[in-house]
Amino acid sequence: MRKKLIVGNWKMNLNTHQASVLVHRLEENIETHKDVDVVICPSVMSVQPLNLQVNKRKMKLGAQDAFYEDEGAYTGQVSAAMLHGVVEYCIVGHSERRHVFGETDDVIGKKLAAVVRNKIKPILCVGETSADRSGGETKQVLHDQVTADLRNLTDKEIQNIVIAYEPVWAIGTGDFAKPNQVKEAIEIIRHNVRELYGAKTEEGLRVLYGGSVKPDNAQSYMDVEGVDGLLVGGASLNYKQFSEIVASAHKSAEN
Ligand code: PEP
Repeated sequence: MRKKLIVGNWKMNLNTHQASVLVHRLEENIETHKDVDVVICPSVMSVQPLNLQVNKRKMKLGAQDAFYEDEGAYTGQVSAAMLHGVVEYCIVGHSERRHVFGETDDVIGKKLAAVVRNKIKPILCVGETSADRSGGETKQVLHDQVTADLRNLTDKEIQNIVIAYEPVWAIGTGDFAKPNQVKEAIEIIRHNVRELYGAKTEEGLRVLYGGSVKPDNAQSYMDVEGVDGLLVGGASLNYKQFSEIVASAHKSAEN
């Protein structure tokens, strides 16, 4: 049985009280399934209090970002070393980090290494912009991101990471990708990892799709070959929608 992974990225939403209320609602509504792992990624403000609240059998905690140095004169940053023991997962290289905050593959590669070094499972986001896609550059962009971002990790470390294919044009836009576009992109990502690190490494890797996932399209992505789960933004802030997405992951894992 290959487990499905459903990740909720709350982005910069909800104060600690609101986050606690949402966790409460999720715990009431999400059914625990052996074949589905659920991860929520609240603001860094909320990870510590939620670590005390959350029922870890229902869901795990993730961070949305972490800095690559463990400590030092880096005002405003939170390190992976500080998140160690509080979160199990950490998103790295989300498109908003790349495109709003100008993070390069060099920075993302270092962050990925820091997260792994601190025994946190990274969820590396890759994906093309709409200009890349219309210019026929999707394959090259995915290849370049995968190659550059993973360069500091060993084969063994890569076996345990998660990669999320998130086309930038589909994030928060409602303009979701067609399942066959997702299939194609995920084949490219898996092919690149296989070429660089071998078949065993590629088989261990979990690959997610993210971009305007809602309860009514979740199943169609989960049924795509090579997709191990979903990274959900907007719909993860709605407990009913997120619980429905988790339920459809279970349905898909059963088939
Ligand atoms: C995301 O935040 O990674 C994301 C995919 O957002 P949304 O589901 O809102 O498109």
